[in-house]
Amino acid sequence: MHKISKLAVLTSGGDAPGMNPCIRSIVRTAIYNGLEVVGIRRGYQGLIEDDMFPMGTRSVSNILNLGGTILKTARCLPFRTDEGQEIAYQNLKKRGIDALVAIGGDGTFTGALRFSKKYPDIAVMGVPGTIDNDLYGSTYTLGFDTATNTVIEAIDKIRDTADAHDRLFFIEVMGRDSGAIALRAGISCGAEAILLPEKETAIDDLIENLKSGQSKKKSSSIVIVAEGDKHGGAYDIAKLVEKQVKNYDIKVTILGHLQRGGSPSAFDRVLGSRLGFAAVNALIAGKTQMMVGLEANYIKLTTLEEALTQHEFKLEEDLMKMAEILSI
Ligand code: ATP
Repeated sequence: MHKISKLAVLTSGGDAPGMNPCIRSIVRTAIYNGLEVVGIRRGYQGLIEDDMFPMGTRSVSNILNLGGTILKTARCLPFRTDEGQEIAYQNLKKRGIDALVAIGGDGTFTGALRFSKKYPDIAVMGVPGTIDNDLYGSTYTLGFDTATNTVIEAIDKIRDTADAHDRLFFIEVMGRDSGAIALRAGISCGAEAILLPEKETAIDDLIENLKSGQSKKKSSSIVIVAEGDKHGGAYDIAKLVEKQVKNYDIKVTILGHLQRGGSPSAFDRVLGSRLGFAAVNALIAGKTQMMVGLEANYIKLTTLEEALTQHEFKLEEDLMKMAEILSI
């Protein structure tokens, strides 16, 4: 069993609101339990470059409300190589670090698992931090709730102007491989159609749907497009539709990176605090190569192996059907 004394924490991959509350929780839970804590800057890049610093309870004061991550994040190619992983290992060893918490998405966990299999004397724990909500083993990932709230605030504003001008808006939201934000935002904003990467978009059905809305005197229409739709982005789909739907003034909005920013919602602050707390306690209990998640409002540990092999987001057909019925 791993008995740990010095723990390092990093954030990696795309940033997500809620990472800071999680870092705060990890630092304070570890210190409460008599562990030393080291922060690593810019994810695996900082691990390889030995860019680390000791963290105390006050180093995480007043960060609960901050979006982004105070540790910074990066995508790091060298960590994908054996040489890069060896340098990372040596840097941890020389500082006496025996446990690592990695907050990120599936790429981050793939790197962490590979590292931990090679160097099992460093205990590794994953925390799901990605706005995409696409990790197996946790109903919610850090940042998804905040990002969805940011999206619906933006769409509500667009709906005002769409309604005033009788316009059809195509709004592109984040989610290359995951329609999680698009689906929740679509339900929340009463979108006329929601296009997801998990489901082939039938353009003819979409056009029928929009024409039917026109005939029922809908004064505006919103179509939400997840960026990973097979037909391309919102501009591509708008062009396809424009040819066949007359009398509509069509506009396109790409929400882009504003979806990643902003102060974490209460849900993400609590989730980050709970997952950070659970991650440290799991490491103290001797667990490694696992991910902490939340299922049915309880903390659950899943092996990284399982989290990665089953990672794909399952399309919630029941929610899709409901969204269709409610937008008639
Ligand atoms: P998001 O879901 O927000 O994109 P992510 O964690 O999936 O987050 P990635 O860029 O895919 O983001 O991965 C983060 C980092 O994890 C990579 O930059 C790389 O350093 C490391 N990583 C990913 N895959 C591997 C791998 N096969 N081996 C080693 N390291 C990896």
